[in-house]
Amino acid sequence: MKRVLVIGSGISGMACAVRCAHHGVHVTLVSPDPSERSQSVMAAGGINAVIAEHEEGDSVACHIEDTLKGGCWLGGQRAVTGLCSHGEEILKMLVGIGTVFSVDKQGQPLRRAFGGQTYKRTYYCGASTGKQIVSALIMEVRRFEAAGLIDRRLRRSFHSALIYDGVCYGALLYDETLDKPESVLADAVVMATGGQNALFGKTTGSTQCDGYAEGRLFMQGAALKNLEFIQYHPTTLETAQKRMLISEAARGEGGRLFYERDGKRIYFMEEKYGARGNLMTRDVISREIGAVKEQVFLDISFLGKKTIDERLPEVRDVCVKYGNINVYTQSIPVEPSVHFFMGGLAVHLNHETNIRNLFSVGECASMYHGANRLGGNSLLAAMYSGGVAADEIAGRPELGSAPDFSEFIAIECDKMEKRQSSDSPFPVMYIRDMLAESMREHMGIVRDENSLDEGIKDADYYLSVAGRLRYDSSVKRYTNYSLTGILTLARAALQCAKFRKESRGAHYRSDHPQTGEEYRSATIITFDDGNYSVRLDKEHEYES
Ligand SMILES: Cc1cc2nc3c(=O)[nH]c(=O)nc-3n(C[C@H](O)[C@H](O)[C@H](O)COP(=O)(O)OP(=O)(O)OC[C@H]3O[C@@H](n4cnc5c(N)ncnc54)[C@H](O)[C@@H]3O)c2cc1C
Repeated sequence: MKRVLVIGSGISGMACAVRCAHHGVHVTLVSPDPSERSQSVMAAGGINAVIAEHEEGDSVACHIEDTLKGGCWLGGQRAVTGLCSHGEEILKMLVGIGTVFSVDKQGQPLRRAFGGQTYKRTYYCGASTGKQIVSALIMEVRRFEAAGLIDRRLRRSFHSALIYDGVCYGALLYDETLDKPESVLADAVVMATGGQNALFGKTTGSTQCDGYAEGRLFMQGAALKNLEFIQYHPTTLETAQKRMLISEAARGEGGRLFYERDGKRIYFMEEKYGARGNLMTRDVISREIGAVKEQVFLDISFLGKKTIDERLPEVRDVCVKYGNINVYTQSIPVEPSVHFFMGGLAVHLNHETNIRNLFSVGECASMYHGANRLGGNSLLAAMYSGGVAADEIAGRPELGSAPDFSEFIAIECDKMEKRQSSDSPFPVMYIRDMLAESMREHMGIVRDENSLDEGIKDADYYLSVAGRLRYDSSVKRYTNYSLTGILTLARAALQCAKFRKESRGAHYRSDHPQTGEEYRSATIITFDDGNYSVRLDKEHEYES
């Protein structure tokens, strides 16, 4: 029987596992925490689709156009066409497995407007779209577990891929419960490990998604794509631990951004961009907020208690709980913060990386969103990409016997075990915090060459220190061994941002404010003998 190892159990990992199981392929599904704690459960706003019976002027062609335009033409026509054309099928499938979408009094599904969309096409489940989808998928996973087709293993973290001669045969994992490594051989490995939040520390996302897997695979020969495109969400609320998202739904329902000058409200987005100013794409609004000297506020109070309670309960609750703000009467102080990573593992249309039998899906793959993701499109992409990878794997022959990885495994386990003495005064978490601070400063909403060079200098220094660190027993073994991968990923992202000498979408260079036709291609970075080699994907190698 064909065997697949899926690493990460958010929406994309589960979508892939379930579809593989439908094809009769056996899946080992691993993650450190249960799916109920994946970042996917945080998604509140909704999922995009064009459903023929509710079109009212909208069309799949328009969804494709909005997605390509929002991504500043880096999304890849064929990829985006595939994504948007499957919206209806995916939504109907989700309903079929028990996802309960919000409906009006006539039982018609409700939709909301999200930034960069010509029509309302974001379907939602109250304030918990991600949670609802995760719950429905968990039930499907359990069904296939009972049938013996899915083997769910928790407390497992990725360590490295088992690669021989450009082909992936499985992965080395770390089993936190037994505190020991575990190798799993498979006919295909699917990475579904989400975003890269550790690069910036405080973001709107989950700290589980730290980017280590991408960094480590990069060091093992996997190409990465579009790392410079990091989405800052324009409206987040500061708290001690993280940035709380004030969903775009608040502006979709009519919320208005403003600042005050001389006691007068200035609705700066509407003044500059007209009636749809508050629903410009996230990159545009984040930059505009960044340019305002005063504190920016979001006002939803005028929508009234009924609309807020019915349509925006998550915004109301986040504001009361984390900011002591009563949104019925008060405006919300907002700031942009890192929210989503358009870049990640470079994959072909079938979601295979440049390493044969190594696939990547969901947020850790770079494919559909180009230079800027539209709200509601990533849940769709997580579902769609999981299915695409599963169909591809199901259609492939079994791999046959794997080479002997015992020497590689012994070396890696030895490194994982080692409690080195150190000539560095810094503990692991201190370096991670320093990296995050440096990245926030040098890879912000606006960048320039000098600042990126400073960031590169910092990352190189932390990398040089990381090799000399003492094992830190106050944090998990995973936190110790993941440091170099995270630092390498950050260094690669800075290199990509330096390479792209133009401004496009989420990548804004104050020293190159123009958008250059010669840069209308994805950035591909590889790690060749310790060197970071960046190029543009002019031949569209990763769009085929
Ligand atoms: C606050 C918030 C709100 C959002 N709202 C929306 C929305 O309304 N609509 C929308 O379309 N998108 C939204 N997004 C984005 C969307 O939620 C994510 O892009 C999507 O859920 C990612 O799914 P995923 O399966 O790729 O990854 P995740 O759900 O992040 O799952 C990653 C999995 O990988 C595991 N993992 C991580 N590292 C390792 C490792 N080293 N080893 C093993 N396992 C690992 C994790 O434990 C987890 O199981 C939102 C994001 C945030 C942060």
